[in-house]
Amino acid sequence: MADDNKKILVVGGGIAGITAALEAAEVGSDVILIERNPYLGGRVAQMYRYFPKLCPPTCGLEINYKRIKGNPRLEVFTQAEVTAVSGQDGDFEVQVEIQPRYVNDKCTVCGKCAEACELEVDNPFNYNMNKMKAAYRPFGSSYPARYALHPDLVSDAAAAKKVADACEYGAIDLDDQARTQTLKVAAIVWATGWDSFDPKDVEYYGTDKHADVITNVMLERLAAPEGPTSGKILKADGNAPSHVVFVQCAGSRDEHHLAYCSGVCCLASLKQATYVREQLPEAKVTICYIDIRTPDRLEDFYTTVQADEGVSFIKSKIADIAAKEGGGLLLNGEDTIAGKRLQLEADLVVLATGLVPNKPGELETDDYGFALPVEGGGQYPAGCVMKPTEVSSTVQDGTAAALQAIQSVRR
Ligand SMILES: Cc1cc2nc3c(=O)[nH]c(=O)nc-3n(C[C@H](O)[C@H](O)[C@H](O)COP(=O)(O)OP(=O)(O)OC[C@H]3O[C@@H](n4cnc5c(N)ncnc54)[C@H](O)[C@@H]3O)c2cc1C
Repeated sequence: MADDNKKILVVGGGIAGITAALEAAEVGSDVILIERNPYLGGRVAQMYRYFPKLCPPTCGLEINYKRIKGNPRLEVFTQAEVTAVSGQDGDFEVQVEIQPRYVNDKCTVCGKCAEACELEVDNPFNYNMNKMKAAYRPFGSSYPARYALHPDLVSDAAAAKKVADACEYGAIDLDDQARTQTLKVAAIVWATGWDSFDPKDVEYYGTDKHADVITNVMLERLAAPEGPTSGKILKADGNAPSHVVFVQCAGSRDEHHLAYCSGVCCLASLKQATYVREQLPEAKVTICYIDIRTPDRLEDFYTTVQADEGVSFIKSKIADIAAKEGGGLLLNGEDTIAGKRLQLEADLVVLATGLVPNKPGELETDDYGFALPVEGGGQYPAGCVMKPTEVSSTVQDGTAAALQAIQSVRR
C-alpha cells in the first residue's frame, strides 16, 4: 500500500461503490471500501433479474467480486460505517466503526455452524419476510464468502458455544469486538445508495391491514430462488395470485411523500410483470400509471411488455385499497383517459415505491436528501445517493467519481 494520505476511501459497497473502488484500484490507486452490511453488492444483490436484459444480477456481481479478490490494492471492510470526517481535499482523517462478525477468514463456508444453530432471526436480505439461522451467510454467492453470527446468538453463551464447537476450522471468534479505526485518505467517494420508500405513511394503501399489498423490492425477493418462497410468487395464504395490479408512483410525485420521480419504478414494474407472466401464464397483470417513463432505448423494453396480451395498462391514480368481501382486494381510483371512476379487483397488489437516498455522511444535500457536489472537491458522491437511477448510469457515476478521486490523490 502507498503512503496513507494517498489512499481513496469509498463508502458504500453497492454497484456504484464497487465500481469506483475497482476503477481506482485497477489504475494503481490504493483503495479502502467500507460497507455497512456483512456483504457487498447493495440493492442489486437483492434483485431477481435486472432490466433490460433480464439476466440475474449475480453474474455481473461475481465478476466484480473476482476483480476485488484479485486486487491487492483494494481493502474491504464490511459491517463498517464512517462516524467522523475531518480535513480537506488531499488530506482527510476518517473514523470508521467496525462491528464484530464473530467469524474470521478461516471460514470455508461449509455451513456446519448454521446446521448447529437453533436460533432463528428475521432475514433482512428478504425484507424480513422469512427467518434465517442466526449463524448465516447472507446469500449463496455473497462476498466476502464467509458466515456471520447475529449478536442475539452471541449473547446466549450456551447456544453460541454449540455453534462455535461445530466449526472444524477455528473460524468462530466469540470474543470479536466492535472497534474504531482511524484512516488517513486523500479522497472520499460517497456511494451510500438508497432505501425503499416505506408506504406505511400513505394510509389509503393500507399496507398495515392487507398482507397482499407488498412493495416492488419485496416482489424481487418473492421471485428470487433464494427468497422466502423459494422463487414462487405467492400471496400471503400460500396460493398463487390470478390478478396482480402494480400501482405506479406509490408515494412518488406527491408533495406529501416523495415529490420527485425515481426514474426506475416504471421499468421495475414492467420487468416484474414479466416475472408474473412467465411464472403464472394464467395470471393477468394490470399496471396503473400516471405516466410510463422509460427513457432512451429502454422504451423498447416497454414496447415488448405492451405486446403481451396478459398485461393491461390503465392511466389512473389509485386512491384507496380495501379488503373485498369474500377475499381479495378492491382498488378504487380514477381512469383518467376514460374520465370515469375505476374499480379493480386484485389478489396481489405491488406498490411501485421510489428510492429514498441514504445519508451521505455530512455532505450537503438537495431538498430531497440527494447529495450535492462538494465545493473544493475531495469528496465525491456517486450512484443513487446523488440521484435515483438505474445500474448502467450508476456504473458511469462510479467511474466518474473514481477519476475525480484519483485527481485528488495526485494533486
Ligand atoms: C424495485 C426496483 C427494481 C430495480 N431493478 C433494476 C433493474 O432491473 N435494472 C437496473 O439497472 N436498475 C434497477 N433498479 C435500480 C438499482 O437498484 C439502482 O440503480 C442501484 O441499486 C444503485 O446502486 P448504488 O450503489 O447507487 O446503491 P445501493 O445499491 O443502495 O448500494 C449502496 C450501498 O451502500 C451501503 N451503505 C449505505 N449507507 C452506508 C454507510 N453509512 N456506511 C457504509 N455503507 C453504507 C448500503 O448498505 C449499500 O450496500 C431497481 C430499483 C428498484 C426500486
